[in-house]
Amino acid sequence: RTEETLLEVNNIEVIYNHVILVLKGVSLTVPKGGITALLGGNGAGKTTTLKSISNLLHSERGEVTKGTISYRGDRVQDLSPSDMVKRGVIQVMEGRHCFEHLTVEENLLTGAYTRRDGRGAIADDLELVYTYFPRLKERRKSQAGYTSGGEQQMCAIGRALMSRPETILLDEPSMGLAPQLVEEIFTIVKNLNEREGVSFLLAEQNTNVALRFAHHGYILESGRVVMEGPAAELRENPDVKEFYLGMS
Ligand code: ATP
Repeated sequence: RTEETLLEVNNIEVIYNHVILVLKGVSLTVPKGGITALLGGNGAGKTTTLKSISNLLHSERGEVTKGTISYRGDRVQDLSPSDMVKRGVIQVMEGRHCFEHLTVEENLLTGAYTRRDGRGAIADDLELVYTYFPRLKERRKSQAGYTSGGEQQMCAIGRALMSRPETILLDEPSMGLAPQLVEEIFTIVKNLNEREGVSFLLAEQNTNVALRFAHHGYILESGRVVMEGPAAELRENPDVKEFYLGMS
């Protein structure tokens, strides 16, 4: 069986504000139908890597100065974020980013803005999101700003789903959440992967949980990939155990 590659990041360098070199040659691939984890501590460069792919760096005065990024074989690094969404790649930002003054359902509907396939299909997808996130259905008329942290994280993922993505770049879904909710969210990610075929590249500091749900992992340190492999192997690796699994 040959795995189809969706995303290929090849030796990229990223510089902020023309001077600060943050990624120093990062390479990774995301296969179709997989959950790929991007691990590493605070400031290792996980968010920068995701933003390089989704083309969200420009608003932060960041620039890919070397290397290539391709999706389904096409060079994509000069596209706009919304063109990436049209190609099926969407980022769920760290910190959730719901529109606080809109209801949960209105937030979800904003995720469909790039679509041209009419209201019927969008209504169907809203129902699909609710089958994966029953809590969002219960809270659909609530103002998002008044929902819990876990519900806001779910809302952010649900909103991304409304663009019918092929690949979701998910940044620190566990951040600030109680262990039980982290488990709940990762289980939903796994279900979306298995049942809807959505591929994930997920950045996480919580190595423990990420390696339980992912198929493959990359570990970043100071802007370089220092280790990679199947998640099951990384979980058993003595260095990973000592430096990463003890932490979370
Ligand atoms: P975290 O989990 O804290 O988000 P991370 O692994 O995602 O960590 P990044 O956010 O990618 O790391 O940050 C990597 C480095 O780039 C850090 O040293 C950070 O200070 C720096 N950095 C991030 N954004 C900017 C920016 N807009 N301008 C300058 N430096 C930045």
